[in-house]
Amino acid sequence: MFTDKESFKQAYLMKLIAGEGITADEATPWDKFVALVMLLKEKMSYYRAINKNSISQGKQIYYFSMEFLIGKLLHNYLVNFKIEDLVREGLADLDIKLEDLLEQEADPGLGNGGLGRLAACFLDSMAFLGIDGHGNGIRYKYGLFEQKIVSGNQVEIADNWLKNGYPWEMRKMDKAVIVKFKGTVRHELKDGRVVFVHENYEPVLAVPYDVPIMSYDNPSYINNLRLWSAETTCSELDLACFNRGEFNQATSFRSEVEAISYILYPDDSSRAGRELRLRQEYFFVAAGLGTIVRSYKKKNGLSSLHNFSRRVSVHINDTHPVLCIPELMRILIDEEGMGWDEAWNITVNTMSFTNHTIMPEAMEKWPIDMVKTLLPRIYMIIEEIDRRFKEDLAARFMDHEEVVQNTHILKDGYVWMANLAIVGSSSVNGVAQLHTKILKNEVFKDYFRVFGYKFNNKTNGVNHRRFLLAANPKLSHLITEAVGPNWKEDAGELKKLQAFKDDQSFLEQLAKVKYENKCRLAERVTSGYGIVLDPQSIFDVQVKRIHAYKRQLLNVLKIMHLYNKCLNEPDRLTGSQTFIFGGKAAPGYHYAKTVIKLINCLSKKIEQDPRVREKLKIVFIENFNVSQGELIYPAADISEQISTASKEASGTGNMKFMMNGALTLGTLDGANVEIREAVGEDNVFIFGLTAEQVLDYTRHGGYKPWDEYHNHPELRTCVDQLNGGFFDNMGEEFRTLYDSLMIYNDEFFILKDFPSYIQTHEKLQSLYLNPKEWNKHSLLNIAGSGIFSSDRTIREYADWIWKVRYRTVNSISSI
Ligand SMILES: *Cc1c(COP(=O)(O)O)cnc(C)c1O
Repeated sequence: MFTDKESFKQAYLMKLIAGEGITADEATPWDKFVALVMLLKEKMSYYRAINKNSISQGKQIYYFSMEFLIGKLLHNYLVNFKIEDLVREGLADLDIKLEDLLEQEADPGLGNGGLGRLAACFLDSMAFLGIDGHGNGIRYKYGLFEQKIVSGNQVEIADNWLKNGYPWEMRKMDKAVIVKFKGTVRHELKDGRVVFVHENYEPVLAVPYDVPIMSYDNPSYINNLRLWSAETTCSELDLACFNRGEFNQATSFRSEVEAISYILYPDDSSRAGRELRLRQEYFFVAAGLGTIVRSYKKKNGLSSLHNFSRRVSVHINDTHPVLCIPELMRILIDEEGMGWDEAWNITVNTMSFTNHTIMPEAMEKWPIDMVKTLLPRIYMIIEEIDRRFKEDLAARFMDHEEVVQNTHILKDGYVWMANLAIVGSSSVNGVAQLHTKILKNEVFKDYFRVFGYKFNNKTNGVNHRRFLLAANPKLSHLITEAVGPNWKEDAGELKKLQAFKDDQSFLEQLAKVKYENKCRLAERVTSGYGIVLDPQSIFDVQVKRIHAYKRQLLNVLKIMHLYNKCLNEPDRLTGSQTFIFGGKAAPGYHYAKTVIKLINCLSKKIEQDPRVREKLKIVFIENFNVSQGELIYPAADISEQISTASKEASGTGNMKFMMNGALTLGTLDGANVEIREAVGEDNVFIFGLTAEQVLDYTRHGGYKPWDEYHNHPELRTCVDQLNGGFFDNMGEEFRTLYDSLMIYNDEFFILKDFPSYIQTHEKLQSLYLNPKEWNKHSLLNIAGSGIFSSDRTIREYADWIWKVRYRTVNSISSI
């Protein structure tokens, strides 16, 4: 990499002139951004080339995910290459501001939220640890919609992230693959063996675009994120149609094919029951496995597929890529001529599966008819997997009818994807201890009896180099001054910060950093929305997808309660508070959109009321994405993690907040449980029902929201305010929310948890008035956040699931 400013400047100018054919004066900010990206890519290719010989003969890991929420890359790569300052200064000499170039980059919205962001964090950690670990996904032409707020309502705008091009990607036409849909399957006898021939299918050309993944201080490991784009196989066909004047037919064929990689489904909770989604799933699975087998054979020789599972691991991130299992079976049997038993052995040993949800309505399933028509050969294989599995079970669990009944892959006219995943993988993991326990004891309890040895936990983590080192430079600097720089490679080193917990001058510096980060966010909010935030007030933040189980509504009811208190007992409300919300609602999710409207209406009501606006303020930040997160997490005082216990599998926002010194106000759900373990009870603020209590109510009933309503007058006031009068001209707008609580029995126990939530929040409120104490808690949270680095998570996957070696960093202590 560059070692001095002058050589950088020279190379950069060359790139700008040679690449864009223009002088520095003529170049637009976009040109200048592209030139810098090209320069870095060239350096990476160079590293990759000189390391060709040393590329580990080790195992290749392929992480299949329908979503990768990678965020912007340029800034992180400058940090990873350790050249940020040098580049900034070099550009300044040329009268270019690095910040202006960073602004140019699109933030690819190729994911909905936590699941896609997890996949991106894992890519970074695999590269950092020197694991040959590659992503495999879809290059959606349109990412998740861009969110605007218009008169308090969410409005969705197409996210045309590719409109200027995406300079990080490289189109690899020579690695294109044909994926086959529909058609018929014929079997014939060949050399005494039945072979299956797939005919009359609709071919789709899958073209890969590769994005380099480069992690901190490990230039020899540049991994690959391969994103597939759908194209028609032959333009001649189109042309022929055009020539015959069949214009519509030609373009409709083209758009039908291209629709496959056209758009990301903006819903991560309920399955969009649409054939296109199934097409997307098979598309990137078949394309990915196609190139994996091809490159494996090139490297290892044609006849060595017997060892495939020793050299290749395929990881299935949630159920969307589960068709990997029948597809690998198809390749091994139909294309490689292998027998069923050997193919099955290899397949199971190659595949591992992560489950992300426990909500039964979110379990992915596909109508058998649809699978049969769209993927005739794949369906045959699924049927055979199901048949053999049942046969095996019937013998082993003769006396346990329920086990046999509850574990079918084909049931009630559907293919159950999680069931296929469990049967066809060697490992099934949950994403936090509590979540894994619920999988074993509730959701998959019958599978747990059959395949106990497959189930394991791998608690999620986040890329601390993105969300702390790069996103919070001031805090990073302070940490490095205190404990040295090794925490960047080994997040466990953050523990050493504990030594400063009573060091008043250090704690004051910590508070100053937080204050400055709050100012940074406040400036953006002011320039974006014209809203002035007071950085002296406490920043109480909930940013994540809007969903009933995440309970943004509980947070709003709390603020309504504070509003009422402010009017009725103004003296009891001390200090001023800023509530920050952000998050997208799925476009068809009426409840979630109403919650957004409610937040904005309350914000306006407060703003217009001189009696309260000095004490309370609400902002809803539009279009929450990775880049916004990088600005918001470092500026938070309170991290709201208030999902109904048992519903949030892990959460990762909670980890990003904690790492940046926010105190968690949360339920005992997902990884909050482990955050409490890591920092001790005194340093987290827990309230509400436990998962066990929630599951108990769900099983036996007995929850009566009306009891809570009648027993708590302040709560009753707030709930009634939802229902009319309080918000001007709002008519029936919030009726949905009121009804969800009072008519549909408050499925997420908002009323039940309200009193303890208010109490715990008050505790935090008064703690904030004692900065000494507050700062100590904040420091201990940062110090305890090391185990939530995705480096730790990936080491566990490598040790226990993929069985692959990784590099050890000198300073890695055991965490
Ligand atoms: C981390 C992250 C999430 C996940 O947040 P949770 O609080 O765990 O739901 C969602 N979206 C973005 C952009 C993120 O960075």
